[in-house]
Amino acid sequence: MRTPFSRRGFLGVAGGAVAAVGLTAPARTALAADGAAAVASAAPSVAPFPLSGVALLASRFHDNMDRTCAYLKFVDADRLLHMFRVNVGLPSTAEPCGGWEAPNVQLRGHSTGHLLSALAQAHANTGDDAYAAKARYLVGELAKCQAAAPGAGYTTGYLSAFEEKVFDQLEAGGSPWAPYYTLHKVMAGLLDQYRLSGDQQALDVLKGMAAWADARTSKLTHDQMQSVLRVEFGGMNDVLAELYMLTRDPAHLRTAQRFDHDAVFGPLAAGQDQLAGLHANTQIPKIVGAVREYEATGDTRYLDIATFFWRTVVRHHSYAIGGNSNAELFCPPDQIVSQLGENTCENCNSYNMLKLTRLLFFHDPRPEYMDYYEWTLYNQMLGEQDPDSAHGFCTYYTGLWPGTQRQVKGGLGADPGSYSSDYTNFSCDHGTGMETHTKFADSIYFRTGRTLYVNLFIPSELAWAERGVRIRQETRFPDEDTTRLTVSGEGRFTMKIRIPGWTRHARVRINRRDAGAAHAGTYLTIERRWRDGDTVEVTLPMGLDWRKAPDNPQVQTVSYGPVVLAGGYGGTQLTTIPAIDPKSVRAGGDDLTFTATAGGSDVTLIPFSEIQHQRYTVYWAVPPGPAKPRLTVRYPFGEGSGTTAKDATKTWPDATLVGGATWTGDGAVALDGKGGHVALPPGLISGLEALTIAAWVNPEELANSARVFDLGFHKNTYLFLTVRTGLGKARFAMKIAGMSAEDYVDAAGPIPAGTWTHVAVTIADGSAVLYFDGAETGRNDTLVMSPLLLGATQLNYLGRSQNSSHPYLQGQVDDFRVYNHALSAADVAALHAQGRTS
Ligand SMILES: [Zn+2]
Repeated sequence: MRTPFSRRGFLGVAGGAVAAVGLTAPARTALAADGAAAVASAAPSVAPFPLSGVALLASRFHDNMDRTCAYLKFVDADRLLHMFRVNVGLPSTAEPCGGWEAPNVQLRGHSTGHLLSALAQAHANTGDDAYAAKARYLVGELAKCQAAAPGAGYTTGYLSAFEEKVFDQLEAGGSPWAPYYTLHKVMAGLLDQYRLSGDQQALDVLKGMAAWADARTSKLTHDQMQSVLRVEFGGMNDVLAELYMLTRDPAHLRTAQRFDHDAVFGPLAAGQDQLAGLHANTQIPKIVGAVREYEATGDTRYLDIATFFWRTVVRHHSYAIGGNSNAELFCPPDQIVSQLGENTCENCNSYNMLKLTRLLFFHDPRPEYMDYYEWTLYNQMLGEQDPDSAHGFCTYYTGLWPGTQRQVKGGLGADPGSYSSDYTNFSCDHGTGMETHTKFADSIYFRTGRTLYVNLFIPSELAWAERGVRIRQETRFPDEDTTRLTVSGEGRFTMKIRIPGWTRHARVRINRRDAGAAHAGTYLTIERRWRDGDTVEVTLPMGLDWRKAPDNPQVQTVSYGPVVLAGGYGGTQLTTIPAIDPKSVRAGGDDLTFTATAGGSDVTLIPFSEIQHQRYTVYWAVPPGPAKPRLTVRYPFGEGSGTTAKDATKTWPDATLVGGATWTGDGAVALDGKGGHVALPPGLISGLEALTIAAWVNPEELANSARVFDLGFHKNTYLFLTVRTGLGKARFAMKIAGMSAEDYVDAAGPIPAGTWTHVAVTIADGSAVLYFDGAETGRNDTLVMSPLLLGATQLNYLGRSQNSSHPYLQGQVDDFRVYNHALSAADVAALHAQGRTS
């Protein structure tokens, strides 16, 4: 429940496909409107308008598009053709590109595909023929490269900037860098050139590539093909299924379905979230493809896969800005604060999630889809571009570790947080950035036969040719909370306006007369005979919303209406998540600027997308109020039989003896050093800003890194006490993933072997003190973090480490306790003096 788009219940997926069948399927593109497209097998019920029918008016979106368009005009087509030509022995005098397009980088050629898509969108949206002319040149030259392929020893139809033998390596079980991923970009670019700019040659070249892909993959057994699919292949199933819907050539569908990845589709079809550890952006395009395959075949399994995937990623794998992935991987579900880093939220992922969201909406127009779309558009996509770059350079990741910044760096450009460049970057996000910032007009309005959906509040003018009307939307949203729609022309149709889930008490005025309230999280329906000059005014009141992270309710984000706010920290490094006083947040003027007190200093909060060229934080620690000092957890381990142990405070579920842990004869737990450990319940220290953890331990053997206790999520987010490190001393340490170093306290020596020792660690006010047998043995008065940042730790152990490469504890443990405050030295001494009584 951390993002507004997951507030309302998702009602399940059944019905989406049924509802779609039989409804009118309006043309999806200008070309389709001319009758070029065949009818799909499971036609969407909702369709977009052609990009040519929606003009952006002045806004941040328009500015971003202008910058990217300037780059599209600037970039040298011959440099992006260079390696395609070289690859087939055609002459080229162009200077080779750098970055991911460099002659020795296996992904070379992908940017040429993105460029074709971006040029198609820019042409369609602006009508400027310069984009079409450049693209026609690119397509014509690519056609020559494809024609020269057989002469260069390649299979007919092959078109690539790298040699075909890369596919031999792939089919032999190797892992080259994503050859089908790159071909997919080129194919998608050609398809966009055909659909949006009407370039017939682009379709011919694409068909040639599809025939090559069919020839290449038809020779493989199912198992061999599944092995090929281990390596990122972009949306091959997507582009081939779309091509099939244009051509109705069964070979195109057959080839698309060869890219159905069993290992990923299987669990999703069964409703299982097995995404943790998978490379995120490898998966999202194939799920987009699943929707296309549903459209091509009517097989609802594809739609089930896509809807389950969307729901799972949005609800359980997405950060507060709508993005997903840490270091490009999906994390275990609901791990957010425990997975903050500078490399979170690869921007391509959200580009692809928005594609998926849009397609799912076409089949099942739920407001929550467009709520997510708006949220991620404003909070991630808009801000990925540097507003100071005349060419619309983009970052690769959107880092969410406090103190991250989006910054300009030279050189090869996948370095985290850096913006791209003219010729030395060409990362995947430079590519998807070109596309994102040339298609803002494609999701503001959708339609069915007589219904207009108003999804986004982006200043724009829609020409609805079939109904002979124009709709002009004027607003400074989100700097103001009201948007005004003016109808030119006449006719009866239904207007459905999205009332976002984040608003409250939305109001509508028609022709300046109050038309009542509208419910958040719905589409407001206005059905009437519209007359020239009719106006609709929608006011969507905004307020501050604090949202708790799922794994740590004491770490929160704050948004205002649709925008996530971020604290601007200029050049100041942050070592950890700053603590904020939520009551201190004040509006700073009539724009979206706020001030607050965090970490004892004043900080300015502005929309996250506007934070550029400075360090920032989106996540804030929100300390709890004062609590009565008490013992909050105690496992005395007096049971002596069975495999469960009771919490004496009657607060927590039973702990469990696992993996060979047994009872001693005198009321303790014996651990064998081979897997035996105690599993404690999750959440034991959640919400504690100060604490004491105490236990008795009697190690038989001192193995480096063996744990007395370890509470955490994974090997980078933990709080532990080990009997000995490589330095020969016991150590207490804690860390959350994004921190560069752990907080720790070393004891004077190891925990002694062969005898019972009472161990205790107290933490409060930036100090941690470690005690053995009631006497201080080490302290650290310069803690960076507080236990509060650990949150509801899921993996809480006695005798076992978060890190599976560490040994288990061999020995005995007893009487594990947690207090919600730091015991004094005298208190710890008294606890020790009580002795080991169960
Ligand atoms: Zn990327």
